[in-house]
Amino acid sequence: MMKTKLVIALLSVGLIAGCQTTYSPKIVDYSKLKLAKGNIVNDGEVYVPAWVRNEKQINQVLVNEHHCADNLVLRYQNMSEQNITDSCQLLKDTETRFHQLFKRQGKPLLHDNNQVLRANIYAGRDDYVKYVTDHFDVPSNNGGMYLEGLPHMENNSAEYVAYLRNGQVWNLNHEFVHYLDGRFNTYGDYCSPPHDNHYGPEYCPEPAPEPPYLIWWGEGLGEYVAHMNNNPSALKLAGNKTYQLSELFYNSSANWDTDRVYRWGYLAVRYMMEFQRDKVDHMLTHVRRGDYARYQKIVKTWGTSMDADFHVWLDTVAIK
Ligand SMILES: [Zn+2]
Repeated sequence: MMKTKLVIALLSVGLIAGCQTTYSPKIVDYSKLKLAKGNIVNDGEVYVPAWVRNEKQINQVLVNEHHCADNLVLRYQNMSEQNITDSCQLLKDTETRFHQLFKRQGKPLLHDNNQVLRANIYAGRDDYVKYVTDHFDVPSNNGGMYLEGLPHMENNSAEYVAYLRNGQVWNLNHEFVHYLDGRFNTYGDYCSPPHDNHYGPEYCPEPAPEPPYLIWWGEGLGEYVAHMNNNPSALKLAGNKTYQLSELFYNSSANWDTDRVYRWGYLAVRYMMEFQRDKVDHMLTHVRRGDYARYQKIVKTWGTSMDADFHVWLDTVAIK
């Protein structure tokens, strides 16, 4: 009996790698497999994301599903019709803006199978805290997370975990930009670009590569595409000139600060997108290929050359 089970398990694993549609999580006995932890798959290990292993439990809580579009799914506990309509519209508008900015529609990165983004939406913060760690193996001390998984694996899926706050899906827009950036700009999985975050759900390997990392870009772009010119909380800080642009390129987990990462990240990306677009495009050429060593070299070459201009620009957008 045990032997039969193991054979079925191994057969299923073969199917995971081969074809997503024939994969049925119900017949896999995960206790028989050596599962990879996070995004690092060592020899002899199998990558099965927590949300695939726990699909049954997740579906018992997030019992509803709505398709905004072929590539956009909402799986949710409890949402109003209006809320569903608004959320879908918000995502579609953001997607349109993103493609207007980068002109990459229909041209995903090489080895990216994340065709579909699914937003998993809990009814409120309490339910999020109660379930999200068991369901998705992520911490619950946050306002939502984008889980890119391993985009080159065919059994992968891109998931956003979130909850309703004040009748809206909290941070939906910002997290959706992470999905688009991961599919069209930033090659590889979350651990591919250099950074100093070793926490779950990805558990990126230590030691960390040297900075600069990509946090200034990823988080700043999330805020920029989500808000465009309408970001008063950032624009109110602009006049303080707290940071040089060259410092913001070195944003990291170690120097993490909400204002620095999100508000100042927004200001850095907006300035670069609107006034240094040739430099951004040059950088993205290499980021899209996953040549992060060259990305770092480019940022180091920029050095402090744009700092003075950045501060001049801050005065032109600052809300007094
Ligand atoms: Zn973010």
